[in-house]
This record gives sequence, C-alpha cells and structure tokens, in this order.
Amino acid sequence: MSYIDLHVHSCASDGTMTPEEVVDCAARAGLSAIALTDHDTTAGVSRALEAEKKRREAGLPTPAVIPGTEISCSWNRDGKETEIHMLGLFLPPGNSGVQKFLDDMISARDARNREILRRLAADGIVLSEEDLTEGNEDTVITRAHFASALIKKGVVSTADQAFKKYLASGGRYCPPKQTVKPQEAVSLILKAGGFPVLAHPMRYHLSWKEVETLTSDLTAAGLQGLEVYYSSHTAEQSRKLRELCRRLHLLPTGGSDFHGAKKPDIHIGTGYGGLRVSELLLEDIRSHLDENCMDFSLMDEGGEILENLAMC
Ligand code: AMP
Ligand code: MN
Ligand code: MN
Ligand code: MN
Repeated sequence: MSYIDLHVHSCASDGTMTPEEVVDCAARAGLSAIALTDHDTTAGVSRALEAEKKRREAGLPTPAVIPGTEISCSWNRDGKETEIHMLGLFLPPGNSGVQKFLDDMISARDARNREILRRLAADGIVLSEEDLTEGNEDTVITRAHFASALIKKGVVSTADQAFKKYLASGGRYCPPKQTVKPQEAVSLILKAGGFPVLAHPMRYHLSWKEVETLTSDLTAAGLQGLEVYYSSHTAEQSRKLRELCRRLHLLPTGGSDFHGAKKPDIHIGTGYGGLRVSELLLEDIRSHLDENCMDFSLMDEGGEILENLAMC
C-alpha cells in the first residue's frame, strides 16, 4: 500500500522548507504523491515539479507532485463570518484565471501587512519587511510570519501570545483579511479544470449541523471533495466526514497540513503520527477528473456552458 499527502506547505507561504526540500522530505517518507497547497499562491509549484522531474531523471524514488493551493475564504451564515479554507488540487500551472485571482488576493494581503506594520510601529514595535520574509522575498506573508518576527524580537514568547495580543483579525493591530466567498473559490478552481476540496472541516469551530450545511451549500456550488483525513481529526470525526461524503457524493481526500519547523509536531504523510492517506483516494480523484473533463473555455460571460464537452 502506498501513501500520499494532499495538503502540504512550503516557504512559498508559511512552511519552512523550500519546495525542493518538501519533495525530498516526502520521498524520504516514502510517499507516492503530495499536493503542494500553499496559502493563496501557486508560486512554489513549478519548483516542486522541477524537483520531481530531477529526482525521476536521476533514477531516485519520487512522489508525484500535484499542483495546488489553499485559498482563504469567508463563509457568511446568518450574518456571521467564518474563515474557511478551500484546497484547489490539480490546478493547471500558469492558468491565467487562477493567477489573476491569486495576484489580487496577494495585493490585498500586502496592503493588510503594511497596515499591521504601521499600527505596530505606532505603538513602538518596529518590524521590517526583512524580519517577515527572512530573506525569502517570494513568500506570501501571513500572520504566522508576524508571529515568528514578534517572537524573534522578544515582544512575545509564543505564537499563541502573538495571536492573542497582536494578531487577532479585526483587533487593534490587524485589519480583517479581504475575503472571497468559498463559492467563488470553488467556481475558480472548476473553471481552471481543478478539483475543489473543503479543507479541515472540523477546524472552523462550527457545530456538526453547521459543517453539514456548509458542505452541502458548497456541494451545490460544485465542491468535489472533502478533507476527511487530517492530522487533528479523530477516527470518529473522519468516520462522520466519510459518511457525509457518501451522502453528498463527494470524494474523500486527506493531508497532514505539513508546515516544516513551523508546526514541528506535524510530519509529512503521518501528521501527529496516526495519519495514513491511501493512494487509492488519489486514483478515485484522477478517474473523476478524467470522466468529467469539461472545456470551460467554452463558457460565456455569464458562466453558462455553451457546449459541454463531457469527454476529452
Ligand atoms: P493569515 O492567513 O495571514 O490570516 O494567517 C493565518 C496563518 O496563521 C495560518 O497559516 C495559521 O496556521 C496561523 N495561525 C492562525 N491562528 C494561529 C494561532 N492561534 N497560533 C498559531 N498560528 C496561527
Ligand atoms: Mn499555514
Ligand atoms: Mn488551512
Ligand atoms: Mn494548510
């Protein structure tokens, strides 16, 4: 039996390993496939694909690299906003629609990051861009980077303190993130020919009823997969999510949410130790994509399918 990990971060967002190191690490763990799913970016994907190719050419065992991203979204239910994350798997590298969408998200992040820097500085806590990027200029700066910088400067001693005191979204120092609706993210991923998956459904502090509502609302919008297997899910939670998949005709996926040294207890492929994601899940996703391959370039402005090339 081969194992995979469909939720992995590199230093293109808030992971600590380069895309090449992630591929090597997955190979050492004996994984047959990984999806690189950095927050709101696909910037690490081409490097990971190149690393896979090099390993193959050198005759080394290598995981297949699946291009992806993890898009930050906001779900509005009865006026209450909840941040949720949408994984886009099998995104064609360089897809212009995806690129433009993510570029806009990153511009909004840049503006928010500058505002956090300004508000901190106004209270005498001066951080530079370099403190945040740590020499990796291409990285998408998240609040996790701010937390690391605040620890390094000795302003706080743990990430938890940093988030509580300085990085609460909508709090004194941190404006809320510009949000996109999860339905928009689903539609973007589908149009690009990718496979949209609701990430870590049990991490949103929602009741089970709300998880069901969220998942079925998104299924109506075209969601294809649910992250059933995840580092922090209990066996019982995975069982319930698997059952939800069956009911809604979604495909189960699984991943660790590996971040390298930023989340040192989470190991690629095995999470906190108990996670195993079978390669068979990936085969089901691949078959689904082959069977449902549609040419969305034939969609008109309003999104109506003019001609549905069901098979290709
Ligand atoms: P952002 O996308 O800029 O809002 O930042 C979100 C990042 O911060 C995610 O990658 C989380 O892993 C991390 N994060 C959020 N809350 C916490 C927390 N309380 N402690 C540690 N990391 C957190
Ligand atoms: Mn993260
Ligand atoms: Mn996430
Ligand atoms: Mn993640």
